[in-house]
Parts: sequence; structure tokens; C-alpha cells
Amino acid sequence: MSSQPQLGWIGLGTMGNPMSRRLLEAGYPVAVYNRSKDKEEALRAAGATPADSPAAVVQQADVVFLMVSDDQAVRDLFTGPDGLLEVEASGKLLINMSTVSPGISQEMAALSQQKGHTYLDAPVSGSVKQAESGQLVIMVGGDEPAFQQAQPLFEHLGKLALHLGPVGNGNLAKLAINTLLGIYTQGLAETFLFAQQHGLKPEDMHTIIGNGAMSNVYAKIKGEAIMGDNFQAAFALKHLAKDLRLAKAEGLNTPLGEVVHETYQQAEPALGNEDVIAIIKHLHHD
Ligand code: NAP
Repeated sequence: MSSQPQLGWIGLGTMGNPMSRRLLEAGYPVAVYNRSKDKEEALRAAGATPADSPAAVVQQADVVFLMVSDDQAVRDLFTGPDGLLEVEASGKLLINMSTVSPGISQEMAALSQQKGHTYLDAPVSGSVKQAESGQLVIMVGGDEPAFQQAQPLFEHLGKLALHLGPVGNGNLAKLAINTLLGIYTQGLAETFLFAQQHGLKPEDMHTIIGNGAMSNVYAKIKGEAIMGDNFQAAFALKHLAKDLRLAKAEGLNTPLGEVVHETYQQAEPALGNEDVIAIIKHLHHD
């Protein structure tokens, strides 16, 4: 790979938009593709080149990133009509940053290898703010040389990229940290609800949490969302419900894991497109 590889980016949603933008701002040429074409416009304005299909992206790029919803999206983009693997190309590095199952990563890695490509799973911890500022934590599974090849690119996206072993291990680490995210989010919501039930002000609870040993950026941001009744998705509840399903499928069966999985499945039909902290509305109505 030359010192200035041509990049491709597939999936320009909440996370893919700011992440691909950082690579553009770092000076890389980036070909972009999104299923709904309207989301490509903002990136075109920022200097990216829209491509007609995933196949067109892999033909143009040395390294292709994916940041899409779930296993089905990954399968469609790799093996669907005009998919990444449905075209004559080889020797590319395919980096899947979506939160998906270790199983789909292993399957896509094997199919990629048959075409002469290399696959890394590289899901991220952090949300829109961290994506915008290049402060994500990137959990990587796959071969060490591929990880080393990707490292200079990861440096534009995250404050840390950790190589965790074979393909699928990045996905497993992501499911583990999002189990904590689910438990913590529900815990925070229950804390505010309990205080409110006893006539305490949310602002005071926010101040107490913010000044104690349990203070952290997440509690600050989500506490502000609760106080401001602002449930616009930074991280959509449907994605966390999906992550907890994936964790359960990988054997998560601890007491808190079971509860938090169940709570988010119940909340998803009504609140799936709102932010994860909208779980407080579901708990309030129980
Ligand atoms: P999002 O805003 O919902 O965007 C999802 C993207 O996936 C869109 O580009 C969408 O295309 C595409 N997509 C979905 N199904 C598809 C299919 N069948 N074929 C092709 N494209 C498809 O999601 P996001 O918040 O950016 O999250 C992306 C991934 O990162 C998810 O796995 C999520 O769990 C993970 N993640 C999110 C956050 C966060 O804070 N948001 C943080 C860490 C990790 P359309 O535009 O056409 O629908």
C-alpha cells in the first residue's frame, strides 16, 4: 500500500458521517457509498467521491471501511447484488467497524480471504462527539500485519486502537463493553426515577453524581438529556437492544445482563429510534 492509500467508506449514518469526514480532513481521497443516496451529499460537499455501489468502492479503494447497522446490512453489502465480493478485485483491506456478531465477521473474513482480501473487525466505543473529535476506542480482531497496516488510519479516528486477537474478538469486546453501557444507562435512569419519586430535583441528582466518585462524561451527557427532555438519538436505543441480543446469543446470562437485555427488548418497539437514555420513559411507565 502506498503512503497515501485511496480509501472507501460504506455507511454514512450517525457515526459513519463524522468518521469518514475525519479521513477526508486528514487529506485522504475517500470514495463513499450509502444505501440512501441523500446521505452522500454532505460528504460530496466535503470532498468525497460518491460511488454507485459497494462493488465500485472496492474497485477504487485500497482500504474499505464499513459502518452500518447490523449483521444483515453487512451481509447485503458483502454478498448482495453489486456487493464488495461480487466483483473482480483482490488484495484490499476490508475494515468492518459496525457493531455486529463475531459469527458474521468470521464468515465475511473467510469469504474475503477467498477473494484475496483481508478482513478486520474494528467496532468502536464512543459516540458522535468522540467520532467527531477522533477520540473513539477501536477494538480490533484479525491478523497482526493487517492491524499494523490499518493503524495509521485508526489514528485519525480514535485515541486508542487495541489488537485483541483473531477475527471476531473485536466484536466480542464490543459486546462486553456495551453490556456495561446497557447496565449503566438503566442504572442511571433508575437513579433519577427513584430521586424524582421522592420529590428530589433532577438537577440536584445530576450535581451529586457529577461531584462524586461515580462522575463520568457519560453520566454528565445523559443526565443533561434527562433534564432537558432531549431524547434525540446519539446512540439509538434499537442499536443497543440489538447489541444486547448479540451478547445474549454469545452466552450472556448474568443477573444484570438478563434484566438489561429484557428491558431494552421491551422498550425497542416504542422507543427504538430515540436515544438509549429514553429507557427512562419506558421504566417510568412500568
Ligand atoms: P445509523 O445512523 O442508524 O446508520 C446505519 C447505517 O447503516 C446507514 O448508513 C444505513 O443506510 C446503513 N444500513 C442499514 N441497513 C443496511 C442494509 N441492509 N444495506 C446497506 N446499508 C444499510 O447507525 P449508527 O449510529 O451510525 O451506527 C452504525 C453502527 O455503529 C451500528 O452497528 C451501531 O451499533 C454502532 N455504533 C453506534 C454508536 C452511536 O453512538 N451511534 C456508537 C458506537 C457504535 P441507510 O442510510 O440507507 O439507512
